[in-house]
Amino acid sequence: MGLFRTSTIAEFPPASPPVGFHAPVMTETKHPHEIAREALKRLAARKEAPTPANYQACYNEIANLPNVVPFPEPPLRQIAAALGAKTDDQKKQLQLLDRAIGRRSWQGVQEALVGFAAAGHEAGPQVVVLGGGGTGPDFTTQVARLVENLLPAIGEDDTRTAEAAQEVLTLLRRPDADPRSLVAKLGAFTHQLSFAAEEQAEIKASLLHLLQLIVENIAQLSIDDSWLKGQTEALLSAVEPPITLRRLDDVERRLKDVIFKQTAAKERSMEAQEQVRQMLAAFMERLATMAESSSTFQGRIEESARQIEQIERIEDLAPLLKNVVAATRAMAEDTAATRTQLKSLQEKVVATESELVQLHLELDSASAMARHDPLTDALNRKGLDEALRREIANMRRKETTLCVALLDIDNFKALNDRLGHHTGDSALVHLADITRRSLRTVDTLARYGGEEFVILMPDTPLDQGVVAMQRLQRQLTKDLFLAGKEKLLITFSAGVAQLTPDESGEEALRRADQAMYLAKRAGKNRVMAG
Ligand code: GH3
Ligand code: MG
Ligand code: MG
Repeated sequence: MGLFRTSTIAEFPPASPPVGFHAPVMTETKHPHEIAREALKRLAARKEAPTPANYQACYNEIANLPNVVPFPEPPLRQIAAALGAKTDDQKKQLQLLDRAIGRRSWQGVQEALVGFAAAGHEAGPQVVVLGGGGTGPDFTTQVARLVENLLPAIGEDDTRTAEAAQEVLTLLRRPDADPRSLVAKLGAFTHQLSFAAEEQAEIKASLLHLLQLIVENIAQLSIDDSWLKGQTEALLSAVEPPITLRRLDDVERRLKDVIFKQTAAKERSMEAQEQVRQMLAAFMERLATMAESSSTFQGRIEESARQIEQIERIEDLAPLLKNVVAATRAMAEDTAATRTQLKSLQEKVVATESELVQLHLELDSASAMARHDPLTDALNRKGLDEALRREIANMRRKETTLCVALLDIDNFKALNDRLGHHTGDSALVHLADITRRSLRTVDTLARYGGEEFVILMPDTPLDQGVVAMQRLQRQLTKDLFLAGKEKLLITFSAGVAQLTPDESGEEALRRADQAMYLAKRAGKNRVMAG
C-alpha cells in the first residue's frame, strides 16, 4: 500500500530493511487487510479527504509505522545537478534519475544513483542493480568515496544516518562483500539520507525565514530612505529560495551596506532633530518678543488715542498720526521677521522630513506652552478661549451658573515708571499667585492683556462672584507685594458678569469689561457687578 511501491521491490530479499520507501509491513497483531479496513474507517470518522496521503497516514498510524515524509524533490534535484555525467552511460543514468525524481520514486532514485556510480566503471550497471555479478574494487571505491563525500553534508548531529553510512562503508571496504547485502545497506542509507535531506531543507527554510524577518524589519526602520528601501527590497528577493552560495555572498554584501547606511542615517536624523529643536526654541523666543512688542504697540496706540482725544487743533494731529504709523510699522516689521523665521522653520521641517515624529512631539509641547502665559503661568488668550468654551458647555449641561470677572490693576503704569518694568513683572506674578491661592481649584485664572486678568468661576451666581473678588482684594491687603524692601499694596478694579443661559463668552466678557470700567470711573479699587 506504500505510495512509492514499485514492482521491482519484490526483487529484494525478504529480510532486507525498508529501502527508501515506507510500505507498511505486516505487524504481529494485525493483518494488512485488517489495517487497511480500519484505516478507511478512521479516515471516514475523522471526515478527512480520502487522498492517498491521508489514507497512508491513517494506515501507518494503525500499523505503528513512521509516517510518510513528503518527497524532497528540490534537494534531490540539487544532488542530481551536482553529480555531472562523465560518460554517456552516466548521462543516461542521470536522465533516469531525473525521471525517477519526477515520479517521486525512491526505488527509481536508488537504481539510477547506483547505476550512475556503476556507469563510471567498466563493469556496467546491470551487474549491481540486478545483483547478477561481482562489484569490482574500482566500483566499490567510487561508491565509498560518494558516501564519504556525502557525510559532511549530513552533519554530526544525525547519528542514525552516520551509522547507516558507516555500515555501507564497512561493507564496501570488504573485498568479499555480498552485492545483495551491499544493495540492502545502500538502501537503508538512502532511506536515512532522505530524512536528513528533508530536515536540512527545513532548517534552511527556517533560517531563510528568519533572514527575511530581519530584512523586513530593516525596511520598516528606514521607510524614509529610498536607497535603503531599494536595498532591502533587493535583499528580500535575494533571500527567496532556492538560495546559493553566490547569492548568500550578495546578501552579505548588501546587508553590510545597509548596516553602514543605517548607522549614518541615524546620526543624520539625530542631527536633524537637534536642529529642529533649536529652531523651535528660537521660534518660541521670537513669539515671546512678538507678544511683548504687540503689548508695547498697544500701549503706544492707546497713548496716541488718549492724546488724540485731548487735541484741540487739527495741526496737532499730524505728529500723533506719525507716532501711530511708526508704531504700526515697527509692529509690522516684527511680524515680518517672525514670518521669515517661520518660513525658515518650515523649510527646515521639510528638509528634515525623517524627523516628523519628533517634530510632532516638539510641536505638541510647544502648543501646550502656548496655552499659558510664560510670566504668570496663567492661561493666555488661547487657553482662556478653550476654558471658556468648556465652562460654558458645562454650565449649559448642568444647568448651573458661571461668572466671569475681569480685573485690571490700578495705576500699574505708575508702578512701572517708578520701580521699573522688571518690578512690574514681579508684581504681576505676585498678583497671579495670590489670586490662585484665594480661588477655588475649579476656578480658572487667565491673563487677558498686559495687567488685566480674567477669572472664570463655575457654579457661582453673580453675588458670590462679586464676593470672591472682594475676598481677593482683602487677601492682597494681607499679602503685600515686596519690591526690594518696599511693601506695596496692589489694588485692582474688577467687573463681574454672570452668563445668561445662551450668552457667548465674548459677550459676557464685554459686560464684565464695562463693569470694570465703571469701577475705575467710580474711583478704582472696587468690584462692580455687570
Ligand atoms: P488704570 O488704573 O487706569 O488701569 O491705570 P494703569 O496705569 O494701570 O493703566 P494703563 O493702561 O494706563 O497702563 C497699563 C500699563 O501696564 C502700561 C504697560 O506698560 C504696563 N504693562 C502691560 N503689560 C506689562 C507687563 O507685562 N509687564 C510690565 N511690567 N508692565 C506691563
Ligand atoms: Mg489696563
Ligand atoms: Mg490698569
